[in-house]
Amino acid sequence: MLIRTTLVAAFLYSLATIAAAKPVSDETISIAKQLRDEAMVGSRAWNIVESLTTEVGPRLAGSEAEARSRAWAVEKLAAYGFENVRVETFAMDGWERGTEVAEIVSPFPQKLAITSLGNSVATVETGIEAEVVLFETLSELQAAEMGSLSGKIAYVGHGMQRTQDGSSYGHFVRLRSAGAVEAARRGAVATLIRSIGTDSHRMPHTGNMSYAQDVTPIPIAALSNPDADQLERIAARGQTIRVKMTLTPNYTGVVESGNVIAEIPGTDLADEIVVIGGHLDSWDLGTGAVDDGAGVAITMEVLRQIKSRDLKPRRTIRLVLWGAEEVGLLGGYAYAEAHKDELRKHVIGTESDFGAGRIWKITRDINEAAVPVADKIAELVEPLGIAPGSSSVRSSGPDLSPMNRMGFPGFRFVQDGSDLSPSMTTWLGSNSSATTMVGPSKAGASFRRAELR
Ligand SMILES: [Zn+2]
Repeated sequence: MLIRTTLVAAFLYSLATIAAAKPVSDETISIAKQLRDEAMVGSRAWNIVESLTTEVGPRLAGSEAEARSRAWAVEKLAAYGFENVRVETFAMDGWERGTEVAEIVSPFPQKLAITSLGNSVATVETGIEAEVVLFETLSELQAAEMGSLSGKIAYVGHGMQRTQDGSSYGHFVRLRSAGAVEAARRGAVATLIRSIGTDSHRMPHTGNMSYAQDVTPIPIAALSNPDADQLERIAARGQTIRVKMTLTPNYTGVVESGNVIAEIPGTDLADEIVVIGGHLDSWDLGTGAVDDGAGVAITMEVLRQIKSRDLKPRRTIRLVLWGAEEVGLLGGYAYAEAHKDELRKHVIGTESDFGAGRIWKITRDINEAAVPVADKIAELVEPLGIAPGSSSVRSSGPDLSPMNRMGFPGFRFVQDGSDLSPSMTTWLGSNSSATTMVGPSKAGASFRRAELR
């Protein structure tokens, strides 16, 4: 894992908290260089992610396992000596996976590897058997006539490509939220989609979906890429395909999730906050090492290294390990709501939620006053081959996006997404509409726009 490299850059936005005056002091630059160079030599980030994924394992939002991950985090953060370690809980609607099986009934009987998308309704217990109608793209499904899929299972191919910046995923992941809704509008009884990923194994990607209020919810599952290829090859022979699928997910009512917080308090500007973090929850099909154990480990280690050098930042550095990100950025919305009275005090921040790949670009959307500091950060990471890039979207990462929308400055260390499993990149899509929480009030919120001084 290249966590070390990501650490280096992650360190450097703490520079903002140490900056004593404009221009950035020689002392601050010297400290930043030391942090950078030490992080390149080694870190404990891997040990942190190993501990989380081994001792807790999968951490589905709202589950007992996610609660255990909060306990794990509190214990670790307290042991590191951070201050104000606490959990801020919030309520959410629970969902858990049940059985998920499918098979081609005819013309060539065989099993299919599928998985429910998060929040999908169940089929009847005995399963649904129906003819499959294939669409190459979401647009093609949307162009189908109303009622034309009555009694059928809709399948949508919609294959994505591997890209460094995750942009292909960002586009094609729309199918996850729109697939069941568009198919149901046309009368379908269930939906199958090609797994939103570029891998070639038979572990389909899950990911969150949501329903529109004006349609009856129908079940939706992802087929692994090889299984999707198989279905398309059979269809290319001009034969009618019948599939039987059984999904038994369950809504578990109101359950608890939470954000875990720890701080290194600031000095003369202690009431101003720099936020870093990753999300604690994961999907239930794996241990969430990449999504987002890596982000948790990177940012915990950043804080630990600053603490271990006994550095005294002017502003408070707040680590937030978010809960329930995967199911609609619920931790991000809960944080923005709980802290709405101090949102103006959040000067800058970033979330690490793009795996453990190498950082290749930094983007920012900040005010003029902060540009000299940001330029200095860019200069400091230049020897690592990291280029400055403009950002077309103001984003500090998924769980900070509710605050970004309210004017919180955007700042990101952009990691290489060529080799990641893209279910992690939910923030690239528009999945925030899937939230089951009410977003924070926009009234009265304005940000300092990173007035670093
Ligand atoms: Zn993630």
